[in-house]
Amino acid sequence: MAQIIDGKALAAVVRSEVAAEVQKIQAQGGTVRFAAVLVGENPASQIYVRNKQRACEQVGIAFELHTLPATCRYDELADLIRQLSADKKINGVLLQLPVPVAVVGDRLSEILNLIDPRKDVDGLTVANLGLLVDGNVGLVPCTAQGVLYAIQSVCPDLTGKNVVMIGRSRIVGRPTSLLLTNHNATVTVCHSRTRNLAEHTRQADIVVVAAGCPKLLTADMVKKNAIIIDVGINRLPNGKLAGDTDFENVAKVATAITPVPGGIGPLTVAFMLKNIVVAYRQQNCL
Ligand code: NDP
Repeated sequence: MAQIIDGKALAAVVRSEVAAEVQKIQAQGGTVRFAAVLVGENPASQIYVRNKQRACEQVGIAFELHTLPATCRYDELADLIRQLSADKKINGVLLQLPVPVAVVGDRLSEILNLIDPRKDVDGLTVANLGLLVDGNVGLVPCTAQGVLYAIQSVCPDLTGKNVVMIGRSRIVGRPTSLLLTNHNATVTVCHSRTRNLAEHTRQADIVVVAAGCPKLLTADMVKKNAIIIDVGINRLPNGKLAGDTDFENVAKVATAITPVPGGIGPLTVAFMLKNIVVAYRQQNCL
């Protein structure tokens, strides 16, 4: 039976490091301040934002929530993002995704890129993704950092490991594949057009799955003793949350696996906190 990688416990370590950093900053008279922007009333997004608020408050980061109705215009959202980016008191800005299509249409990338890259704690601006291509010196997307941390908790050195990344989104798949490549893994990126996904996954020492498809990764697709990182969050018809793996059966083959919930989710929030402090330090040349 695989070792269950306890994302909550790992996240607690990262959070306590962040709390200690924030205390040091406060002792020097500084305040770390973070602004989240929520458009519309998507219930899942409201929960995510509330969790982020609680997480910030627990480590001493001042939190501001800015809400706009789902009926707002693109320009109103753009003005708010510009205003928060220009506000010297705010160190981190995050636009909660998804943003209603009625507001952004096909201009999501444009709106994300209005966030000052030095405050972009999600790491999703073209500037920060470009820095990741260059060798991860900017603000690295939080989920990608969470995936790396979870892997390193059971396999500290990724050098030469064969990794299959299922998913190529701007938020998860692409940045994660870049970050793991920067750590000397050999990464194959698979997606919905990949032919014979199982042929790839069976070769992998590590599989990271972020597709949003319950039970996409089954036991017969996994090499014995592989490490499985499940990023997916799916709400099942019975109301329960599940990832993208057939957890029970994959856990019999793998050497280590992340659960859902309690795996990459808490780590993603912890690395958002870490990015806020990194942003503060960069802005204050500390
Ligand atoms: P997207 O829908 O943007 O991307 C999904 C990716 O998976 C796409 O690249 C898609 O391919 C690929 N894919 C979909 N179906 C298959 C399939 N059958 N076989 C192979 N590849 C497939 O989702 P996100 O990347 O935003 O999120 C992925 C999952 O991770 C979701 O469940 C989301 O809720 C969760 N998530 C969890 C986070 C956490 O903190 N734990 C944070 C962010 C997301 P193609 O490009 O060809 O369409």
